[in-house]
Amino acid sequence: MSDSGEFDLIANYFTHRWPSRDDVVLGIGDDAAILTPAENSQLVIATDTMVADVHFDQQTPARAIGHKIAAVNLSDLAAMGAEPAWLSLALTLPKVDEEWLNGFSHGLREICEYYDCQLIGGDTTKGPLSVTVTAHGFVPADHALRRDQAKPGDWIYVTGTLGDAGLALAAQQQRVQISDAHYRRVLERLYFPTPRVAIGQSLRDIASSAIDVSDGLLADLRHILKASNVGARLAVDELPLSMALTESVNEEQAIQFALTSGDDYELCFTVPESKRGVFDTLMSRHPAKPTCIGRLTNEPHKIRLEHDGERWQGQLEQHGYEHFRTA
Ligand SMILES: [Mg+2]
Repeated sequence: MSDSGEFDLIANYFTHRWPSRDDVVLGIGDDAAILTPAENSQLVIATDTMVADVHFDQQTPARAIGHKIAAVNLSDLAAMGAEPAWLSLALTLPKVDEEWLNGFSHGLREICEYYDCQLIGGDTTKGPLSVTVTAHGFVPADHALRRDQAKPGDWIYVTGTLGDAGLALAAQQQRVQISDAHYRRVLERLYFPTPRVAIGQSLRDIASSAIDVSDGLLADLRHILKASNVGARLAVDELPLSMALTESVNEEQAIQFALTSGDDYELCFTVPESKRGVFDTLMSRHPAKPTCIGRLTNEPHKIRLEHDGERWQGQLEQHGYEHFRTA
């Protein structure tokens, strides 16, 4: 069979028994999809690409790649407070590998099922392995979370725990030695991140800004500081750390992982003092309960790190956290 004929068959992996939604008039199979956006809503759209040997290595299971490319896009929607609806996929493959396609489509479909998303279209081409997903979601008109509305005095929160994905990568590259049990746990976080979709939506009328932690807390918080023209004071002893992280490295290293390693896909957001009571009640029983880690200041773009109220410098060079990034 010719290459193009083989590549035509790929569509079968992405259509059989996948979730479908009422707002999709026409999905995969025509030149383009036809969709009915929800009334009184705004469309929120995000795109992310993952390239082999840049964003993941050859040992990454295909199912993890399928999960993660969808999860990182939904994480961006979560950071906007949006409800996910539709995904489209662009897939570049060196060859038609049925086992890989099975795993990849399985990982992607699991996310679509969990978040009630429909895959509405895609394209496959031959070339070096690379996957791109565009996620479409809705937010009630003018209620999206943004980066540019934070004010001095707002409290800074983060969901879940930080630094686990970075620890997994460090262990994989043998930069740190960790136990098998901890490795399994953090590898799960690197391969199968959980987008904080529900929390993102519940923050809509509460948070003054939000971002997802893809490049590391300091790097991502800086985007909020820049967009809102504020500074931040962070209590490094308040950073939420997993047992896997605290039992694998010393305190200073754990803080460094939490501040500078990427790929955690938690949400970092700010809450004004006036909304704090409502917020704490709302979040008290949430499984990924957000932790308050500091407060915004009126010193534009400055981040001051404190440990027990004292200035903390650690081993962080002023701009030296780039090399902790996972790619
Ligand atoms: Mg983002």
